[in-house]
Amino acid sequence: MKDYYATLGVDRNASQEEIKKAFRQLALKYHPDRNQGDKEAEEKFKEINEAYSCLSDPDKRNHYDRFGTVDGFNGQGGFGAGTTFTTIFEDIFEDFFGGFSSRGPKPTRGADLRYDLTITLEEAAFGTEKRITIPRWQDCTECHGTGSEPGTSPVKCPQCKGTGNIRFQQGFFSVSKTCSKCYGSGTIITNPCKQCNGSKKVRVYKELNVKVPAGVDNNSRLKITGVGDSGDYGGPPGDLYVIIYVKEHDKFKRQGIDVYCEVPISFPKAVFGGEINIPTLNGEHTLKIPAGTSSGATFKLKGKGIPKIGTFQRGDQIVSVYIEVPKKLTQRQKELLQEFAKISGEEIPGGKGFTSKIKDLFSS
Ligand SMILES: [Zn+2]
Ligand SMILES: [Zn+2]
Repeated sequence: MKDYYATLGVDRNASQEEIKKAFRQLALKYHPDRNQGDKEAEEKFKEINEAYSCLSDPDKRNHYDRFGTVDGFNGQGGFGAGTTFTTIFEDIFEDFFGGFSSRGPKPTRGADLRYDLTITLEEAAFGTEKRITIPRWQDCTECHGTGSEPGTSPVKCPQCKGTGNIRFQQGFFSVSKTCSKCYGSGTIITNPCKQCNGSKKVRVYKELNVKVPAGVDNNSRLKITGVGDSGDYGGPPGDLYVIIYVKEHDKFKRQGIDVYCEVPISFPKAVFGGEINIPTLNGEHTLKIPAGTSSGATFKLKGKGIPKIGTFQRGDQIVSVYIEVPKKLTQRQKELLQEFAKISGEEIPGGKGFTSKIKDLFSS
């Protein structure tokens, strides 16, 4: 028969606290991490666990005291096959090792914020700096984030005794829950600060400059570290994400780092060639049109597009031309065009052209 009391080195009348304390000491001493490769320590460690899992449960301990064994015990908690020691072990060590850090609330990082920034294509191409205002939560300046009226202090929560957690036994296991009275903070504010009403935070409108680098596109995300909401219990603040929206341009269409535009040319220029002024992101530029250019012809202006973000590379501008048809002509212009059409053998309204000649042919 195994003597669990002897294993833990405690008296048969030992209290639960004494048993727990003895187990902690022994478990630390024989823990496999501290005794690597030591078979004897490992065996001892198993025995300690077995003893503790029996004696730490009042029902099981009672059964053991009466029968000298836990065989046949079938109480709540399901001791027997399948029950592992690790659960109890983790629980007790959480208590032990995490003892100091789990006291009181954990530092929490503040929330990230988002700001949608609309800019022009030129600003996206060459970069810009914008002044923006963001609403953010930050520690109240009056109470310095304590929530208590200056000169007063929060008091320790009587329900959880300042730990922020309530521990209770559920069957075999010890369960921890956030304290319902202080919501895990471990303290209760008795004299709330008048500026923040005890909420510790105030909403402020923070102004800041945002540097937009050259080459950003729609949905580009700029991260500004530490400008989000301030953290809780000494946690760091969140970040601000600025999402870029580039306005549609009336002359240019963007595709990646290239820009596209369409420009009209006159019929004579298409025929004889010449120079035209076209808009670029950098201002006016002169483009040579070769003789005999058709509508839809494209020309590439190297390096007149948008910079590739973070590089010295720059996209191109693609210009496509279309021949503009004049709507109003003077008498003289009309005569010359009619003359041109006639020489080209083309039918023109009012005159006997090609089509009417064919009609004549069929009607005869
Ligand atoms: Zn305050
Ligand atoms: Zn509490």
